[in-house]
Amino acid sequence: MAHVRPEFRKEDWTEYRKVNGLFAKTLLDEIRHIERPIVLVQDYHLALVPAMIKKSRPDAQIAMFWHIPWPSAAQFSICPWRKEILEGMLGADLLGFHTQQYGNNFMDTVGNEVESRIDYEHFSIFRDDHRTFVKPLPISIAFPGSAERLEQPDRSILLHLNIHTPHLILGVDRLDYIKGIPERFRGFEFLLDAHPEYREKLTMLQIASPTRESVEKYTEYRELVRKEAERINEKFGTRDWKPITLEERSYSHAELRQLYQLANVCTVTSLHDGMNLVAKEFAAARNDESGVLILSQFTGASHDMKGALIINPYSAEETSSALNTALSMPKAEQHRRMKTMRASVRDYNIYRWSAELIKALSQLD
Ligand code: UDP
Repeated sequence: MAHVRPEFRKEDWTEYRKVNGLFAKTLLDEIRHIERPIVLVQDYHLALVPAMIKKSRPDAQIAMFWHIPWPSAAQFSICPWRKEILEGMLGADLLGFHTQQYGNNFMDTVGNEVESRIDYEHFSIFRDDHRTFVKPLPISIAFPGSAERLEQPDRSILLHLNIHTPHLILGVDRLDYIKGIPERFRGFEFLLDAHPEYREKLTMLQIASPTRESVEKYTEYRELVRKEAERINEKFGTRDWKPITLEERSYSHAELRQLYQLANVCTVTSLHDGMNLVAKEFAAARNDESGVLILSQFTGASHDMKGALIINPYSAEETSSALNTALSMPKAEQHRRMKTMRASVRDYNIYRWSAELIKALSQLD
């Protein structure tokens, strides 16, 4: 979905099956004395585990949560092991996705690939006398408690980074090609070309935490991000001003909270992203109810965060225009939008997510 051609290698698939088998074996051993155990399987690494468990322990109540998007049936059809993956997942009694759309895509994919009966009324799939329910369960974060809400941001964190401009645009991502970091930089470049009045008045701070460094695609991506930052800094930079500060290290949550509170704008430009928690963390940190969130339409979070400026990150012009809107947005509008977003994160926090998941599983029969 991020338009990077997948590589399908038999040896990877063999290893994947082996690892799933090890998880299932360990789990089966652990639950051997438990009647009707509840099993919660997390994410795409373990797609085969639900069926492996169900086969030996039909009494187990199994929920699987899929943390990344589910593609369209046509996109998924190129995967050589699509049937095995789907059959593995259908061992679960409940399958959770972040959005209704991902759930719809999953149902269509199963309809195309696996002999089964799809029940759109109850959103479930019947196969070999077993029924799997599919449910949207948007993941969230723990909304800060009252003590954290009284914290004041400390500007010294910016001074240490040599950032002195009046405006700050923030990005916080793993160095992953799904995050659209070069696209974000190009949007910023477009802004500085179209609106020279912003030059020397704002800085884009990109926290880019290294990830999966042993995979070549990720090292190439890191290099590309670095080059794009350098190119833009050379194009616009002056003796006293560096437009982009790129921090290639992982920041702690406490440090990120400071940055969320100090930023005028937070940008999330993922090319696809199951949910994106950074978007929710930014809103949750804004005790002052100001600041603007720019959010890619290809994130699960764009369904929940109604006060954000929604963009197509593939368009540098659109990103630039949203940045301009954000930087010139009146305080009253910022408050209105931020209040809506904070209310949505407060109401549907991570505890609600887990409670809904467990409640849905326990009510299935
Ligand atoms: N994060 C962090 N330090 C960093 C960068 C990110 O702790 O330097 C955290 C961030 O606060 C968030 C998570 O990593 O909680 C990223 O979650 P998200 O859903 O945005 O993206 P993912 O990395 O899961 O694709």
